Amino acid sequence: MAAKSNEGYAIYEPAFDDHSPRRLTLMSELRRAIESSQLELYYQAKVSLQSGQLFGAEALLRWQHPRHGFIPPDEFIIMAERTRMIKPLTLWVLKEAFKQSALWHAQGKDLIISVNLSTRDLHDPELPDLVSGIAASTGIRPEWVMLEITESSIMTDPDRALEIIKRLNGMGYQFSIDDYGTGYSSLAYLKKMPLAELKIDRSFVAEILTNENDEVIVNATINLAHNLGLHVTAEGVENEAIMHKLSAHGCDLVQGYFFNQPMSLADFECWMQENPWQ
Ligand code: C2E
Ligand code: CA
Ligand code: CA
Ligand code: CA
Repeated sequence: MAAKSNEGYAIYEPAFDDHSPRRLTLMSELRRAIESSQLELYYQAKVSLQSGQLFGAEALLRWQHPRHGFIPPDEFIIMAERTRMIKPLTLWVLKEAFKQSALWHAQGKDLIISVNLSTRDLHDPELPDLVSGIAASTGIRPEWVMLEITESSIMTDPDRALEIIKRLNGMGYQFSIDDYGTGYSSLAYLKKMPLAELKIDRSFVAEILTNENDEVIVNATINLAHNLGLHVTAEGVENEAIMHKLSAHGCDLVQGYFFNQPMSLADFECWMQENPWQ
């Protein structure tokens, strides 16, 4: 049975296990979802603390299933990873995001679009050429794109991931390390990665006002990132007080419900118009 979570998603009980028939059905449905229009990108703003300007937007995948309603990305992406459906999924996301980036730039909106990559994507030697093909067909410049990767996706097979990352970075794509602090990345590897951004996981941001340890961690992370030449985004910024605290610690960019919830393209474009960003 599906129950509603507070984010309006359908929650499945019992949880999908690897061999459940339901999971297999869902994966074949995902294949169809990519071809029909059940998938959609939502957008969430990234705002510069120093200038107050809109820096860019993160593209977040949504699947509106005809029977189950919204299925949270966390859930179907994990399954897609296990069944190798992730590749067509990632390529669909990249294509949609790049098309949108091209439109924004044609309208004079100088936004950086952030796209999430999965572990398996970072092990795929075909990825760089595929990405470059999508860039060519949509007319975007790699400098307009930030690719978000997690610590755990790097650490699964660091040498292989590093090679793919270096090839894409050589073409001009920027990289961000997502959910920083939740994984076990080795500093030695982080230093080797051509990263532009570090994103502090929202679990540290949420309690920064009340938990001294979290504040210490956030502050140390910002200093570490700056010393490595990276800018820092804090995710999960839900109120103004948190934003001010982050600003006091020298954080560069913020993202979270305080600014906007991830929203459909149409809503995001209205939101941009209503807010004095540019
Ligand atoms: P993420 O990359 O860490 O994305 C941030 C998540 O935090 C999003 O959840 C977003 O809606 C949520 N969020 C943003 N601001 C706030 C806030 O102020 N408070 C709280 N409580 N939450 C906030 P979402 O959209 O459900 O995505 C979950 C995860 O699914 C993402 O985490 C990412 O790992 C994955 N994902 C989403 N889209 C894609 C995609 O296109 N490709 C891949 N590979 N993964 C994706
Ligand atoms: Ca992300
Ligand atoms: Ca994140
Ligand atoms: Ca996350």
